[in-house]
This record gives sequence, C-alpha cells and structure tokens, in this order.
Amino acid sequence: MTDPLTGRNALLKGSCFCGSVTYVIFAPPVLSAYCHCTNCQRLNACPCVHTIHFEESDFEWTHNEPHSELLDFYNNPLKPYKRRIRCKRCGVGVTSHNSNTRRVSVWAAGLERDSEGTILNWDVAKPTAHIFYGTHVLAANDELGKWEGYEGKSNRLG
Ligand SMILES: [Zn+2]
Ligand SMILES: [Zn+2]
Repeated sequence: MTDPLTGRNALLKGSCFCGSVTYVIFAPPVLSAYCHCTNCQRLNACPCVHTIHFEESDFEWTHNEPHSELLDFYNNPLKPYKRRIRCKRCGVGVTSHNSNTRRVSVWAAGLERDSEGTILNWDVAKPTAHIFYGTHVLAANDELGKWEGYEGKSNRLG
C-alpha cells in the first residue's frame, strides 16, 4: 500500500483480532522492545509486550468505517497523555497515542504475518532490547540487553 499524500510504501501493516480495525506504518520504528513495565503487564494481561513506537506522521488508519463505529478509547489516569485505542467489536487494543511525544505505539502481536506465523518485514519490527526489566515476571534468556528503564537511558541489568 502506498501513502496517497507522500507516495511512501507501507513497511508494516497491522490489525485488531477481528480485522475490523487496520493500520499501516510508513517508516522504521523509533523504538522496538519487549516492555516489562507493570502498566504494560496490567493493560495487556501479559507478562510483557513487544511494543513498537513510531512518529505519528508515519502511522495511518486504513479501515473504511468511521472511527466512531469502530474505536474505543481509554486514557490512562496514571499517564493522561497516553490514550489507548481498541476495537469496539473484539475488544483488542491496537495502538496507544502519546500526546507529549506525538508518537504512536503498536504491539507486534497485531502485525500482519505470513502463513508460517512470522511477522512480515520482521527486520524492521524486531526488538532491540528488554526495557523496564526490573519488574519482569518472565525471565528472558536471549542476547538482547536488559534495561531498568529505556534502552541506553537507564541502568543495564543484563
Ligand atoms: Zn476487532
Ligand atoms: Zn511498558
């Protein structure tokens, strides 16, 4: 898919579980990591999430139905500048928007895959670190760095 405004090609595509809500991303991420923070754990009911951050200008919705029919919002009271967006039909969170940084987060589990289950364009999407690892509940035995906060901006734990 090509961005009609800029002519750029989509690098990544994603959707909610039922496929009603869809989006594309036109540029490589500014951050791609496994996040072990307690907000991600509780909001996603998972031990950690693979989160990927993009500039909001590189993200575009591609579903045709009006947002009011499809999208639900939740503003995290602990971080009111962060708005989570989920599908009204299947209830799955698809993105989070940070109005301070003007960035969008998506979760890699929602990205388009091939028939083997591998995320398309994995080299673009793949994580570079484990972040907020101090609160991990699932130990990671891989080669990626483990950081107390953000990668390169906090203490390295492993
Ligand atoms: Zn859905
Ligand atoms: Zn997190």
